[in-house]
Amino acid sequence: MSQKQSEMITVRGLVLRERFTAGSDKFIDVLTEKYGIIEICVKGARKITGRNLAPAMLFSYSEFCLRQRGNMYYIDSAVPIKSFYSVSSDISSFALASYMAEVLSYSALSEQTGNDVMRLVLNIMYFLSEGKRKTGLLKAIFELRFMAETGFMPDIVACKNCAVYESDAMYFLIDEGIMYCGNCYTASADIAAIRISRAVLCALRHIMLSDFEKLFLFDLKNESLEILCGLAESYLTAQLGRNFKTLGFYKSVK
Ligand SMILES: [Zn+2]
Repeated sequence: MSQKQSEMITVRGLVLRERFTAGSDKFIDVLTEKYGIIEICVKGARKITGRNLAPAMLFSYSEFCLRQRGNMYYIDSAVPIKSFYSVSSDISSFALASYMAEVLSYSALSEQTGNDVMRLVLNIMYFLSEGKRKTGLLKAIFELRFMAETGFMPDIVACKNCAVYESDAMYFLIDEGIMYCGNCYTASADIAAIRISRAVLCALRHIMLSDFEKLFLFDLKNESLEILCGLAESYLTAQLGRNFKTLGFYKSVK
């Protein structure tokens, strides 16, 4: 984006986090398709009569007309499109939204990736606000599909050694992003591997490879879901090579 002073841009964005200042302003982290996460200063956010408050509310999806000064954006005008405010009434949903914001803030999104990631996150916000899907499942879908969309697709087509498509037990190697079947896998203290059943492998392939329209149309039983959740979280943190503060928060409240 141009560093030219006071250039105006119009973007659609989802408010994922907010921080209040000592004064009357607040800062919001907004996911946009074009620029990934951007930080916007909302003037007079504590005043009840402040302009542009509804579109800048937490978990609002809005169209923002912004001015840039230095690295900071300021709202010139904004129009709300959809609010997912009910997400903030459930602490684990709130924590998941904060975690998504932190993960996204470390990712540079291209325009095409930005569209897909925005669609993914908006859908997750929709399901969180409806409260009809398990938060853990939505978190795993976010982690795995986000990795697939941003260039971290693991090789989950078949066993890396013998090319068998599936077996009662497959082993997913977290750091390498590959799989071995039960016959080809040899346990080693140096290799982080997760044993996955047919059901978990099926869910893993579905999340990473299915058309977006079908992405949320599946479910997993408790034990399998737990394994999938562990795999998704380990894979994302290992591949991105960092710990996320908000992940600790999510775990403390789930
Ligand atoms: Zn094999």
